[in-house]
Amino acid sequence: GAAVTTPWPTIRKTPGERAQANLKNYEAATSRFRWEAARAELAGLPGGGLNIAHEALDRHIQAGGGARLALRWIGRDDQVREFTYAELAAQANRFASLLSSLGVKKGERVYSLLGRAPELYFAALGTLKAGAVFTPLFSAFGPEPIRARMEIGEANVLVTSEALFRRKVEAWRGEVPSLRHVLLAGCAGDPPSGALALEPALAGASPTFETERTAPEDMALLHFTSGTTGRPKGAIHVHEAVVAHHITGRTALDLRPGDTYWCTADPGWVTGTSYGIISPLTNGVTLVVDEAEFDTERWRRILREQAINVWYTAPTAVRMLMKAWSQDPRPYEAPALRFMASVGEPLNPEAVTWGVEAFGRPFHDNWWQTETGGIMIANLASMDVKPGSMGRPLPGVEAGVVERSPDGSVREIDKPMAMGELALRPGWPSMMRGYLHEEARYRKCFADGWYLTGDLAMRDSEGYFWFVGRADDVIKSSGHLIGPFEVESVLMEHAAVAEAAVIGLPDPVAGEVVKAFVALKAGFEAGEALRRDLLGHARKRLGAAIAPKDIAFRQNLPKTRSGKIMRRLLKARELGLPEGDLSTLESEER
Ligand code: AMP
Repeated sequence: GAAVTTPWPTIRKTPGERAQANLKNYEAATSRFRWEAARAELAGLPGGGLNIAHEALDRHIQAGGGARLALRWIGRDDQVREFTYAELAAQANRFASLLSSLGVKKGERVYSLLGRAPELYFAALGTLKAGAVFTPLFSAFGPEPIRARMEIGEANVLVTSEALFRRKVEAWRGEVPSLRHVLLAGCAGDPPSGALALEPALAGASPTFETERTAPEDMALLHFTSGTTGRPKGAIHVHEAVVAHHITGRTALDLRPGDTYWCTADPGWVTGTSYGIISPLTNGVTLVVDEAEFDTERWRRILREQAINVWYTAPTAVRMLMKAWSQDPRPYEAPALRFMASVGEPLNPEAVTWGVEAFGRPFHDNWWQTETGGIMIANLASMDVKPGSMGRPLPGVEAGVVERSPDGSVREIDKPMAMGELALRPGWPSMMRGYLHEEARYRKCFADGWYLTGDLAMRDSEGYFWFVGRADDVIKSSGHLIGPFEVESVLMEHAAVAEAAVIGLPDPVAGEVVKAFVALKAGFEAGEALRRDLLGHARKRLGAAIAPKDIAFRQNLPKTRSGKIMRRLLKARELGLPEGDLSTLESEER
């Protein structure tokens, strides 16, 4: 079998580039890799146990690195706040002390709903220190996704801002029985009743705290993700995950102590936690956090002024930068930049090679998902880059392309460029330990010794993986995973809607955009006014990040004989693609 042929030539790495990389030789590193050895690089807690925040902060302080800069935060208004490792640890300790004074116990759930504010970082690390479970929510979520995730995960504490609380939570706060404490950042005056102002509470809390003696298998993080059907799923991650966060930061992102590193992902999603908080800190780098939203000029300025060495971003952002460049191809000034990586959705080969044109180096695509907790497949600094490929499995990771049989068994397809489901051999430390309270859905992810990812992919003869698409109906828009069922449920709340189906349509910048199809109840008139009303309803309930951008009316929606709406058929029709196997379509719909 030949390697894949694409019009995009392989970007070769020079011997100099290979020699400089953390991981210099892929084959050698892969053959001798052992997770136990990676684990031995971390300190562990004095007296036993493992805690992510200890590895991220205290380990460096104990080794004399407390004065190194851990976090440089740039506010929307360009105000800068800096925290050394010792200062960040003190802030995390204050948060942990506060939790403890509130009676929050080990294993209880602390949710954040914050923009990229310094308090988010204090809360994440302080929660872990206290032995509680940290669950970040995306601040652009509307009330419905927030509430659903807080109910499913039985939130005990919510850390948010006064503004977000008033807009999105206050109306139903009393209806989540597990929620005992609401901590509000940025309170202008007295906090609303039943809430506590965060900054004064932190100022009054002790900056020393003895990290809770967590065990490697204790739950540390709960990250929500979506499937095709049902409610969002809470993927459970444990403290042991830090072993993978640490080592993959070094191999896949080429992080080195003292680097200045910018991860543009929001900590409301898994990348922003694993690689926006934990991995950079365990690797001793300075984390740059920009509070503001994407802006081409601002990003140009951050890369230059902050002297970013390693930059981890996402395809949608790269495509927006490319678009701006096509109108105004001014060179980027980023002399400190050494490594650029991208994750979250397919990275077009154009974007990889544009990196070479604009920055003198390619973007390195890598692949992982909420469930895997850390990067699994990557283009490494020492590795030739095939534009359009996600790269090769990291040392310690075994990936395959598999085929499911109707009887549920799974078989590896060992033929180059054959398409199948991307699967991984379980066993790496950051693998999810379950979906909270969803044992059956968790078990369905495994067969014959494989973890099935839900992605379709191919592997070429040199072991590079190529993303083909999702095996299910979930949507990726600007890197955010959207479950169609969650969107459909909100549309169904509207008095006019009898049925709803939601699909993702290709978009040159966002990857996919959400489009909804609805059938109306008798007595309702399809038209522009209702369309706008529905779009407004969805936006208000779901938030702009996951609400549909477009709605079309249909008399009926195509369904299987068992009554399942055939989203794939709607999509095929919308895109003018072959309709595929219609044997299960309900007859009147044909
Ligand atoms: P999430 O759980 O939100 O991180 O989303 C994970 C999903 O994003 C994967 O299952 C893929 O469908 C998609 N994804 C992540 N990284 C890549 C990549 N490099 N190329 C293509 N799709 C990706």
